[in-house]
Amino acid sequence: MTVQSAPYRILLYYKFVTIMDHEALAREHLAYCKKLGIKGRILIAPEGINGTLSGTVEQTDAYMAMMQQVPQFRDMVYKIDESEGHAFKKLFVRPKKELVTFRLEEDVNPNELTGTHLKPKEFYEKLLQEDVIVLDGRNHYEFDIGHFRGAIRPEVETTREFPEWIRTNLQDFKDKPILTYCTGGIRCEKLSGFLIQEGFKDVYQLDGGIVSYGKDEEVQGRLFDGKCYVFDERISVPINRTEEDIVVGKCYHCGTAEDRYINCANDLCHLKHICCEACEEEHNSFCSKECEEKTLSSLEA
Ligand SMILES: [Zn+2]
Ligand SMILES: [Zn+2]
Repeated sequence: MTVQSAPYRILLYYKFVTIMDHEALAREHLAYCKKLGIKGRILIAPEGINGTLSGTVEQTDAYMAMMQQVPQFRDMVYKIDESEGHAFKKLFVRPKKELVTFRLEEDVNPNELTGTHLKPKEFYEKLLQEDVIVLDGRNHYEFDIGHFRGAIRPEVETTREFPEWIRTNLQDFKDKPILTYCTGGIRCEKLSGFLIQEGFKDVYQLDGGIVSYGKDEEVQGRLFDGKCYVFDERISVPINRTEEDIVVGKCYHCGTAEDRYINCANDLCHLKHICCEACEEEHNSFCSKECEEKTLSSLEA
């Protein structure tokens, strides 16, 4: 008997490697991906490539085979999820100045300075130790629907706010082991390097991020509470495969346990907020009375 596998796949990957003409590569890449019919978001910068895309098994196989032919990308690690269909509506291939925008005075090159990589099992074992600081390397709205137990919630809305937030809030932890993690690992490559640059002495990062942690057969997502926010149409994916799987998010309006995000229906607000189905109906998908009134009055005008 053959096991019927899903017809589509979602790939997540990155690599920090010097790219000479990143704009030319982005153009070539866009033309190739269009022809292939894959969708998603690929960023190409002088410091490397970062992509998340969806396509049929054949399309994603062809993409990975093409990447195999490029010496710089030959050892790329792909995180692969099965899917019933595309996870993106469109295809974007964008040239960028940086893959992870920290806006540092002195940028961090992860190939020269980065925290020690820990495989899921090693990360899990460190999590169990006393006196470790667990730092979520993502934005607060990602933290709010799921995170490692006991992790510090960074009060940041974008990655570029991290350096200042760290300088203001984490100075007392310079001598403690710090465990960093993010969705697929790319943000922690820089974040952990930055921590070392700032004088933190014992810095680790979760290799392959939460996504790889959730796939590890041995740890089964243990100690990750809630869901992992992802940047495609799935919005979030389950990680903890043990019976401990719980909901950690709270509805923005009524506070009940919930982990679905919606955007405020006021186009000028668009606030991303956790909202239960009952409240979405009651508030007509608006985050506040103010947003609802503003939108209704602009429609009447
Ligand atoms: Zn609610
Ligand atoms: Zn709003």
